[in-house]
Amino acid sequence: RRSTEQSLRAFQRAQRVFPDGTARVTIEKDPCAVYIERGEGAWVEDLDGRRFLDLHGNFTALINGHAFPPVVEAVTRQIHKGSCFANPTESELALAELLCARVAGMDRLRFVNTGTEAVMFAVKAARAITGRSGIAKIEGAYHGAYDWIEVSQTSGPSNWGNDAEPASVPYYRGMPDSVVNEVVTLRINDAPAAERLIERHAARLCAIVIDPMPSRLGLIGATPDFLAAVQAAARRNGILIIADEVLNFRQGYHGLSARLGLEPDLWALGKIIGGGFPIGAIGGRAEVMEVFARRGGPARVPQGGTFSANPISMTAGYANMQALTPAAFARLEAMGDRLRSALRTAIAASGLPFCVTGAASLLRVHAKGAAPADYRQAVETPAQRGAIQRLVAQFAAAGLLMQTSGMMCLSTPMQDADIDLISGTFETYLHDELRHGGP
Ligand code: PMP
Repeated sequence: RRSTEQSLRAFQRAQRVFPDGTARVTIEKDPCAVYIERGEGAWVEDLDGRRFLDLHGNFTALINGHAFPPVVEAVTRQIHKGSCFANPTESELALAELLCARVAGMDRLRFVNTGTEAVMFAVKAARAITGRSGIAKIEGAYHGAYDWIEVSQTSGPSNWGNDAEPASVPYYRGMPDSVVNEVVTLRINDAPAAERLIERHAARLCAIVIDPMPSRLGLIGATPDFLAAVQAAARRNGILIIADEVLNFRQGYHGLSARLGLEPDLWALGKIIGGGFPIGAIGGRAEVMEVFARRGGPARVPQGGTFSANPISMTAGYANMQALTPAAFARLEAMGDRLRSALRTAIAASGLPFCVTGAASLLRVHAKGAAPADYRQAVETPAQRGAIQRLVAQFAAAGLLMQTSGMMCLSTPMQDADIDLISGTFETYLHDELRHGGP
């Protein structure tokens, strides 16, 4: 393979303008960030002319791959007509109608620019509706960069608190105590403990925010029993359920809650619904979403944004989502099932302590003998981290780009041969790990 000369040069320039030399925290930087020149379909090419099968998909956003022709065409047509207006355009109607038609219970929505904003406005809506300020969330789960929802993501054994009643811990030094104290942390899939905590704190909780398959917990799923128990406890106490499907909306035509029987009051969406452009959406039942309406007075939650519902994101999102038919989701899921099964077969043959989690078009490799049951078990030992770093590096050397965590996602331009390339590369990796002694 060719050198990384051009990327190295760019990365050196970047040291002088970006802390850490990058615009994001979660990018592989050893020995340098890989600078991308272009993407097409499932493939990207870097500055040095190296090609990679893209299993990263910009943090799972690119479900139809790069430069998806219907998106390019729609955006090109729109950009000649202008990129943003204060007034509405018809483009926002098409995407909103498509989403409301697909997700049962989502009667109304509002567009924003990121998943973070979607979660933020959903929490504000729940506060204004209930008159309460506290939220509950799953320990370790990531929901974007809104202050309250950042609580309890980087705890370690020294400040974890006990298993069933996880401590709420700050995400960074100086995070206000008032923020930390507004958040109740639940252990995933521990229904009795979660019910107890919800009942105890009910009077101050406006919402329970749930991503039913949190990536930071290693793509393990909330069980239908846990979701049902949490939902029942919320209903008993007038607490709203906010489903964060920013990432997991890609699991199916109707999203993930529908697959699991969860009936949210509010949804936060993002990523795939923008077709590769910045987007977020807050959705919900009509009476819940009334919180954003002006009815002869100010809205209970004023909501807007300079670039919200801009016609570029709207036309891109619509073209992207329209191509995602039930058949497209079924094909992605079948490819995901085939890949997970091939990786599991290779692991079993190697006898090494690895496992694979995920569903539909999402998967993650762990250097652990069994799938983690909660956030604490998802945290890696240094030896396990080392094994995943070798996996990411070996995949990159073989021309496969994945997230630094060992997470991968599939996209519709991928073919059976790509799935074989992934599983073949993984077999070679396991073979080398055997010689190395494994994690
Ligand atoms: N929620 C979840 C579950 C996410 O995965 C993400 C992004 N990775 C967000 C919220 C935040 O979305 P954004 O990066 O668009 O702000």
